[in-house]
Parts: sequence; structure tokens; C-alpha cells
Amino acid sequence: MIRYALACDHAHEFEGWFGSSEDYESQSEAGQIGCPTCGSTAVTKQIMAPMVAGTKRTAPDMTPAAREVMMAAMEQVRQHVEDNFDYVGEDFAAEARAIHAGKSEERGIYGEASLAEVRDLAEEGVNIAPLPPAPVKKASLN
Ligand SMILES: [Zn+2]
Repeated sequence: MIRYALACDHAHEFEGWFGSSEDYESQSEAGQIGCPTCGSTAVTKQIMAPMVAGTKRTAPDMTPAAREVMMAAMEQVRQHVEDNFDYVGEDFAAEARAIHAGKSEERGIYGEASLAEVRDLAEEGVNIAPLPPAPVKKASLN
């Protein structure tokens, strides 16, 4: 079983259990995964990425203006990460930990993590943040 951190198009976060990643994909494409809060089937897997890959333990506080710019640029942020960061898939938690511990090449990475992994990484002081969900693609039924 795989547990995924999921979010609907209303930004409700929840967890889902699947037999495999293929299971998730087919249920997702068939619109069988519904948000427990609002029932929306526009559900995407949460993808996690570290905001800063650096030796600093703490990131400087963001000013409200900077936060606003970032909110407005969510899609560009995602695009930037996809263009410049290494995709490590389900190995995200392990790789983020290795980079944090200096055991792996220091670089930006992104990938998939469960809510439990995210909580653990945060407790260990690994600096990670959710990426904005990808635009939902309509499955064609040809
Ligand atoms: Zn919802």
C-alpha cells in the first residue's frame, strides 16, 4: 500500500491509500478519488520540494510583499522547480534527508512525499514546502 498526500482544487488536503502508483493513476483518471471535504474529484498528488537548498538552518522571514508576489507567481514557481530541480519521485524523503545531512550533492530536488514523511522531515529541520498543484488535465475517453 502507498499513502499519498492529496489535495483537491479547493486546496483541501487529505490522504489516500492506494495499492500502487498505477492504482492511483487509474483511479485518478477515472475520477474515482473524491475530496472528503467537498466531494471534488479534481484531486492532485501533493509534490514536495525544498524551498532552499543551502547550509543555513533557517530561512529569512518573508515580507508580506514578497509573500504576495510568491502567491501570484505560484505557477511560475512550479514551472521553475520543474525546469531546474531534480525530480526524485518517491525517493524524495530519503534524498531530502541525505542532502540535509550533507551526504548527497546539494541541489534543488522535488518529488512525492506522504503527509507523515513531510511531518517527519519538518521535525528533523529539513526545509521543504508544497508545490502548487498542477493544472488538472481532462482525461480524454477515446
Ligand atoms: Zn475539497
